[in-house]
Amino acid sequence: MDKPLLKSCQACGTEISRYSPFCRHCGHPQGSSLIIGLLILFLVALLSSYIAFMIYCAAHAERFAAP
Ligand SMILES: [Zn+2]
Repeated sequence: MDKPLLKSCQACGTEISRYSPFCRHCGHPQGSSLIIGLLILFLVALLSSYIAFMIYCAAHAERFAAP
């Protein structure tokens, strides 16, 4: 359990967090894209639920419009 939480940036060599998706010094994206993957997954889930909500509203628009 002696893994350092810091690693060197692949581009500039600055020590950054192992879990950081980007280098805080030069902005170079790092190898471990776990956080980016989770972020994209979260955004896709959010977007799909939003689209589903819009489709639901469009499908029931007549009911809402007509008294
Ligand atoms: Zn860097």
